[in-house]
Amino acid sequence: MIIYDTKQRKKVSFTPEKDNTVRMYTCGPTIYNFAHIGNLRTFVFEDLLRRTIKFLGMKVHHVMNLTDIDDKTIKGATQKGISLDEFTKVFEKAFFDDLDTLKCEKAEEYPKATEFIKEMIAMIEKLIEKDVAYLTESKDVFFRIKSFKRYGELSHLKLDELEDGKSARVDSDEYDKESACDFVLWKAYDPKRDGEIYWDSPFGKGRPGWHIECSCMSMHFLGDTFDLHTGGVDNIFPHHENERAQSESCSGKPFTRHWMHAEHLLVEGKKMSKSLNNFYTLRDLLDKGYSGREVRALFLSSQYRVQLNFTLDGLLAIRKMLQRLDSFVDRLNESKGSKVLDLLAFEEEFTKALEDDLNTPKSFAALFDMVRFVNAQMDEDEIDASGVIELLKKFDKVFGFIFEREKQEIAEEILKAAKARFMARQEKDYTKADAMRELIERAGYIVEDTKEKCVVRRKESYAND
Ligand code: AMP
Ligand code: ZN
Repeated sequence: MIIYDTKQRKKVSFTPEKDNTVRMYTCGPTIYNFAHIGNLRTFVFEDLLRRTIKFLGMKVHHVMNLTDIDDKTIKGATQKGISLDEFTKVFEKAFFDDLDTLKCEKAEEYPKATEFIKEMIAMIEKLIEKDVAYLTESKDVFFRIKSFKRYGELSHLKLDELEDGKSARVDSDEYDKESACDFVLWKAYDPKRDGEIYWDSPFGKGRPGWHIECSCMSMHFLGDTFDLHTGGVDNIFPHHENERAQSESCSGKPFTRHWMHAEHLLVEGKKMSKSLNNFYTLRDLLDKGYSGREVRALFLSSQYRVQLNFTLDGLLAIRKMLQRLDSFVDRLNESKGSKVLDLLAFEEEFTKALEDDLNTPKSFAALFDMVRFVNAQMDEDEIDASGVIELLKKFDKVFGFIFEREKQEIAEEILKAAKARFMARQEKDYTKADAMRELIERAGYIVEDTKEKCVVRRKESYAND
């Protein structure tokens, strides 16, 4: 498998270090709000990655944290006057619901920062012992970035080009490259800011910084050095740069062997923001009548390393694509012939595309090349469709949208009318057949006649056709 490694800034050959098992860590959601579709694009990329790893014959141990302690969760909970757990659990549940809707597989572990305070304190103590971290008068602990010679290697930031940062410090969880300076490992308790939320530690009451959380949880589950660390491009700096500095300073070993980052999602060509009224959660799209299956297929239709310009028109185009696929599957299910087709070339095309840094547009092309080929064969002959269905199932181990047709509740009377239409057509009673069609269409369904039956589908799934 070839992947693009962010630190090396090039495509490299990738294999796990041991046991044919990829040990992979993903920065999960900050559970202070509902995830937006940009966040979800990144999580679908990580799902694609784990499914591809398995498709290519490797195993995976995937850890995704849930950030339940950071500036935003604490602010949310104190503003509402409720405990951190009460505040975050709503968004944690919503996050898992979103993953289900998007047909994402479960990671092997979902640790939360609140469950690892003891381990984080131990790690901070070790960093102080090694003199790469220091306690300030205000009882905060900071990491001294000048102590880590390789600081900046991941984000390609030259430390000697920075302003003299010796005394400059930053205690917020997120900041930009211009403010690269010593960053916070332990944040002293401030009753005005933190309400009742704090933990006791040898440095005083307070709470861990965001970066140490991921260093601690990734190394806890995957060891000092693991195979792959992923996130969105906005994680590269400062979060991942800081994770690397702390972890390598603590263990004296390389942290992750490779880094992969997904590009951002834009909406109608612009950054998603509430003020531009282009901010979508998955719920917003479901309310508009789109499905998780459609959103997933849209995300996968572009390669993870290019920005994805999300538009509702794009989603409608995906809807049509999935309808073509559904009709194809229906046709296969009706095909009762014995002609066996050679599909090896399509499987190879599909596998090669994924092996090449998850080139999903090319893997879509492999799927639709196959659909075109098989349709052309079926136009000529009845075929034995079992091999085609097997191959679709293989593709779907990665795609996760082929056989996920939404169950459409169709009213009993419509099913009856469809049967009546089919019978009427058999009997060449076209007046009755037309009347049944009208009845079905007036109720919001569309009609498709095949040799064996009359198929009805709900009309809204053909919106804007
Ligand atoms: P957060 O909950 O803010 O920690 O973000 C969760 C994940 O979403 C991280 O991997 C971010 O890098 C990623 N992310 C944030 N904004 C976007 C966006 N507009 N497009 C794609 N991924 C994003
Ligand atoms: Zn992280």
